[in-house]
Amino acid sequence: RTVYVNGAYVPENEAKVSVFDRGFLFGDGIYEVAAVLGSKLIDFPAHMARLHRSADELGMRFTVSDDELLAIHRELVSRNNVDEGMVYLQMTRGAIDRDFLFDTEKLTPTLVLFTQSRPLIDTATAKNGLKIISIPDLRWGRCDIKTVQLLYPSLGKMEAKSRGADDAWMVRDGMVTEGTSNNAFIVTREGSIVTRPLSNSILPGITRAALMTYAAKSGTKIEEREFSIEEARDAAEAFITSASVFVGPVISIDGVELSGGKPGPVTLALRKTYIEESLTRAV
Ligand code: PLP
Repeated sequence: RTVYVNGAYVPENEAKVSVFDRGFLFGDGIYEVAAVLGSKLIDFPAHMARLHRSADELGMRFTVSDDELLAIHRELVSRNNVDEGMVYLQMTRGAIDRDFLFDTEKLTPTLVLFTQSRPLIDTATAKNGLKIISIPDLRWGRCDIKTVQLLYPSLGKMEAKSRGADDAWMVRDGMVTEGTSNNAFIVTREGSIVTRPLSNSILPGITRAALMTYAAKSGTKIEEREFSIEEARDAAEAFITSASVFVGPVISIDGVELSGGKPGPVTLALRKTYIEESLTRAV
């Protein structure tokens, strides 16, 4: 694989970042993941807009233009022959002698991008659905920023696996915040979809926003409100959204089956709508 590091395209085993990089030492970095379908990028402008927002919120310098970022994405997709998969982008504040205090102006951000080829449409997740467990949300108070501080979500996914499930939904004050790497939705018995409103408690998912636009267009009622883990276990259907899964059916929560333990019809219709609509906008 060819990867991109600070202006150069290099073979992955030759790519290097400093041991003093603040992304490595402090988790002082942000990232984006954009899906690739038919060698084209899904929801690309929205991912770049969120990257800018993450950088602004952390006071990180932004030294590359959106046109350059698009060109780098396309170059990597082309060089690595990615038909279906993802482009991962990571930007850190840069490398400097270790100190909690930093002078952003003296730092040059580190920019790394790489691709991953893998099926996104025809997947076991889409076909069979996901078993979810609930865990307490013990993350920091700025979950709206897409930082590389992913230890808690990583441990949460490990716990889900160890308990025979696929992923975890996090719960704060009895209410579902989001999945370890996705936004959480339920479908009510009346057929409306429910998802938590944006705040510092969740990541403003790009797939979440796009799906809500497409769902509204097709006449689905959307309730943007908090919901409890009990309401989720009792829902008609549930699903997750993320750039790499699109719309992923949830078939059980804490061992309680939803929609007969199979992906639900509303979820599958929304998945189809999302894929069709986002393909027409791919760049
Ligand atoms: N929530 C969290 C915590 C995430 O890490 C992610 C994606 O990685 C999402 C939600 C989904 O966001 P998106 O749809 O932009 O991939």
